[in-house]
Amino acid sequence: DREEPNYFGAGPALLPTSVLQQAAKDLINYDNIGIGAGEISHRSKAGTSIIDQTKNSIKELLNVPDTHEVFFLQGGGTTGFSSIVANLSAAYIKKHQKIGTPYYVIDGTWSKKSFEEAERLGFNPKVIVNSKEIDGKFGTIPSVDKWNIPKNLDDISFIYYCDNETVNGVEFREFPFDKFPNVEIVADMSSNFLSKPVDVSKYGLIFAGAQKNVGVSGVSIYIIKKSLLQQASADELKKLGQHVVPIAFDYPTVVNNNSAYNTIPTFTVHIVNLVLKNLIEKGGLKAQEAENIEKSNLLYSILDKYPTVFNMPVEKSARSRMNIVFTIKDGSLDNEFIKEAENAKLSGLKGHRSVGGMRASLYNAVTLKSTKLLCEFVEDFAKKHQ
Ligand code: PMP
Repeated sequence: DREEPNYFGAGPALLPTSVLQQAAKDLINYDNIGIGAGEISHRSKAGTSIIDQTKNSIKELLNVPDTHEVFFLQGGGTTGFSSIVANLSAAYIKKHQKIGTPYYVIDGTWSKKSFEEAERLGFNPKVIVNSKEIDGKFGTIPSVDKWNIPKNLDDISFIYYCDNETVNGVEFREFPFDKFPNVEIVADMSSNFLSKPVDVSKYGLIFAGAQKNVGVSGVSIYIIKKSLLQQASADELKKLGQHVVPIAFDYPTVVNNNSAYNTIPTFTVHIVNLVLKNLIEKGGLKAQEAENIEKSNLLYSILDKYPTVFNMPVEKSARSRMNIVFTIKDGSLDNEFIKEAENAKLSGLKGHRSVGGMRASLYNAVTLKSTKLLCEFVEDFAKKHQ
């Protein structure tokens, strides 16, 4: 057992205590089978059932249409963005019989890293827009009229973007799908997965590492358009001088084996399963979104109330509901803020090492009560220093 934590870490992040209590029991004896969920074979009846239940909960929560499939891979967000490039390029080659170009929207640290990985792997990606070139920092989501849209959309193998930039605190409200008919859109939703309803039918692929909103680290989640599982074979790729996908990350192979081609971390998937059941019981994504809007509005409004104390680097229309990023204008107060917060049992508030300042992550499991305690603390601190 534990005292309810007020923890605002960016990931791995807080999970509901009731879920962890159930998980702790299931680690020892899952579903009364006499052994724990981490000890069963990923291909046993119980293991398959954990995978299926988790897939079905994702389908239920997001209304995943029949055109799309859900699967899991070992690993996290990086597994996602580095495995996507070769898979989707192979799908493009299969369909168009030529090599396409991946395009990246760079709106923060993680999409930048994803672009650099596509470059490193040799896929010659292009940047469709880089928000830092527009505002000098990653504090905005540039409107689509500022994007460098190529004339021939047919040459695009996919457009990649990060729906919520965890480090910079910017989040898309809606991707401009209507500007890209018939182009496959790929979204990294690692840090806002299942925080709001999403129209899955508009995406070629959505992926997320589990360890923010839906579980602990060790597994990543994919929702892919089934047509993207039709991919050029290893021989065809080699003939074109293209990379072959390593087998553990070959999406068609993984899907054909119900996410158990190799050993999936079954216990980790089970934790996701429990988190999702809890989310369904709480009223699903509409209810969760309403709560997330309420929590983030509360904190942003307190921070906005004291403009002489706090600096808000993100444009209002691009503010993340998950990662609230701010700096203290008098940087010499940073340590005091963190120390006093810890004394008030509020932890995990230090900003990412690359940007400094503060970051409060208000993921699904962070309660309204915790958020209000943080708001009170922030207001007291501001009054003392304004
Ligand atoms: N994408 C996003 C949006 C993230 O926030 C993170 C991790 N913070 C990653 C990708 C990388 O995830 P991982 O460390 O699990 O590889």
